[in-house]
Amino acid sequence: MSPASPSVSRRLLARLRDVMAGGGSAEERLSRVVGLIAADMVAEVCSCYVMRAGEVLELFATEGLKKGAIHNTRLRVGEGLVGDIAAHARPLALADAQSHPNFAYRPETGEEIFHSLMGVPIIRGGRVVGVLVVQNRTMRHYTDEEIETMETVAMVLAELVASGELVSRDELVPVDGNALLPLRLEGIRLNGGVGIGTAVLHNPRIVIRRLVAEDPDIEHERLKKALADIKQALDDLFSRPEMRDGEHRDVLETYRMFTEDKGWLGKIGEAINTGLTAEAAVQKVHEDMRARMSQISDPYLRERLHDFEDLANRLLQHLSGESGAASKGELPADAILFARSMGPMELFDYDPKRLRGLVMEEGSPTMHVAIVARALDIPVVGRCKDALDKVEPLDPVVIDGDNGQVFLRPSDDIRDIFFDALHLRQQRAANYAKLKDLPAITSDGIAVRLMMNAGLLLDMQHLHECGADGIGLYRTELPFMARSSLPDVVAQTTLYRKIIDQAAGRQVVFRTLDVGGDKVLPYWNPYEEDNPALGWRSIRITLDRPAVMRQQLRALIRAADGRELSIMFPMVAEVAELVQARRLLDMEIAHAIASGHAEPRIKVGTMLEVPALAFQMDSLLPLVDFVSIGSNDMAQFLFAIDRGNPRIADRYDPLSPAMLTFMRYVASKCDAAGVPLSVCGEMAGRPLEAMALLACGIRTLSVSSPAVGPVKTMIRSLAVAPVRAYLDHLLKLPDRSLRDRLRAFALDHDVIL
Ligand code: PEP
Ligand code: MG
Repeated sequence: MSPASPSVSRRLLARLRDVMAGGGSAEERLSRVVGLIAADMVAEVCSCYVMRAGEVLELFATEGLKKGAIHNTRLRVGEGLVGDIAAHARPLALADAQSHPNFAYRPETGEEIFHSLMGVPIIRGGRVVGVLVVQNRTMRHYTDEEIETMETVAMVLAELVASGELVSRDELVPVDGNALLPLRLEGIRLNGGVGIGTAVLHNPRIVIRRLVAEDPDIEHERLKKALADIKQALDDLFSRPEMRDGEHRDVLETYRMFTEDKGWLGKIGEAINTGLTAEAAVQKVHEDMRARMSQISDPYLRERLHDFEDLANRLLQHLSGESGAASKGELPADAILFARSMGPMELFDYDPKRLRGLVMEEGSPTMHVAIVARALDIPVVGRCKDALDKVEPLDPVVIDGDNGQVFLRPSDDIRDIFFDALHLRQQRAANYAKLKDLPAITSDGIAVRLMMNAGLLLDMQHLHECGADGIGLYRTELPFMARSSLPDVVAQTTLYRKIIDQAAGRQVVFRTLDVGGDKVLPYWNPYEEDNPALGWRSIRITLDRPAVMRQQLRALIRAADGRELSIMFPMVAEVAELVQARRLLDMEIAHAIASGHAEPRIKVGTMLEVPALAFQMDSLLPLVDFVSIGSNDMAQFLFAIDRGNPRIADRYDPLSPAMLTFMRYVASKCDAAGVPLSVCGEMAGRPLEAMALLACGIRTLSVSSPAVGPVKTMIRSLAVAPVRAYLDHLLKLPDRSLRDRLRAFALDHDVIL
């Protein structure tokens, strides 16, 4: 920005302030404002269009166009240059506007004599609520500084538009259908579970009353103070006992770094220099970022921007003295929060005991708030389109996290169904708790090892609650994904030691870093791949970057400190890869001994997720202590079906002759070689599928913690021999799915599913 521009825009802002504070109707003030802008920008025309119901932009005020066009000229979003600015929520500056393909000539305005045009969107709450335009007769090239000035002015106007004095506020909120009818919204599951409660809208808009500042120095000071307050609040949060460790702490530490981000703070500082108050400057940078965010497709970047947004909201609260969160006193005891998006820290503004769910318009499973919500056991549905437009505060709501759906103002029938489901869940949970200390043994005396999958330190507490025999799969990548840089050996050692300590003697199978595919590491994703699931992922990465693998192995060996340690390599496609990985492990064992560390008792295993490896069982089995089938990836590769694509998610059934024949083949090979085999994909956690796996000869299952109870119940009600014999017959059938037959078998034989 040129040094001259702040003073130009500050002068303009000071005048605008006088006009806004002066008398007259909102429309009269708007008319004076466009006159001021035209004079200040040396433009022959300045016009302001306001968004009306039905996505129509209506001319509300103009200096320079024919006055008769006011309230008559209307453009749909996307129509003409003004509509284009609104559609893309971005400025447009054209020296020769009429030759632009989107130029739409409106004779009533008399604009044919103006050649150049520059316009900016008027944005409020992330939505375009109008467009501000200047035009000149000459072919004028508008500078970046001039565009910046217009954006600043547009921000001031946004407040006028949002005040409800020009058009009723209701018109500014797009309403879809009758707001009082029951509605089912679809989204994606970010955390499972069912919640029944009352809608609470997170972050009702903070109204900024003071936009134009007297003295920028004072505003810089206010900003500094607000930032210091926020850092103090973070420190207070860190001192809470539940925040002592865990990945959610990492998440918030990353967040704290944003409070020192030079680029972002610099932009706010610049906005203050143009004459805005600190809160208006934060809002401006915040709105710019939101508008830009809609153009960004990279999920990681979008998530980081959410964190900034959280911070901006928090700053606005501090600066304006208002609270965005519903205050604790008002929060209903069964609150279901609705938010466009949420930063990780914002969730802590609410009493977790009163939260029954979180619904967001955006979000992805790896987003930070989802990780925190999982730790707090709150159901979350994300990507719930337009949820905020459809919900009203205090609406009754049912959130079904398991199926990624939300019911607004549900009928009594729906509520009853979910009340029953919730009740049943609680009852079942109580029954499963009773099973906790009973063995997972079938009615015909076959002992099953029932293990649990984990990925966060917080999961470890479930190990003892659900009574699993150990952790059959510890996904080590989650903490890597929550951080902003690769954790070093010390950080990893500390984490792994806590995990082993908390397992209190039960086995923990650590899987080495399994990133790539859909698990993106923010700091480390050099290539765009057409087929990431088939790309540079998992062990392919860690063999190509042996230092990363070695650091992780070193940390694991140190953390075990002479205790038993189980290590498993993911996505191994050929025995040679396992040999290579084993070599790195041997180097680290030698290194540990040479540096005086205790020699761990190591068990080495491989995941079987790529079908090719199954054709090398004879050379593989002598090299490993155990094998674990990752049925999620295995199904993906066996059927050539993208596991993340909902369109084909149900196309093939894992309970098919192909998949089960494969399972049985691998089980017989492992059995003959005396190598323990487990299944650790989602399939193992579903009772019917688990029954089929036992019939295939698999004796170890590793499932998510909520699945331990249901699977153990099934195991204790099952006799394996008859279903094994039945499977011999089933696998010869040409059927695409054996599900119905297996379910009927279970019913006939009193197997509890
Ligand atoms: C699997 O692929 O089945 C598995 C357990 O690994 P992940 O789901 O982490 O890829
Ligand atoms: Mg996998």
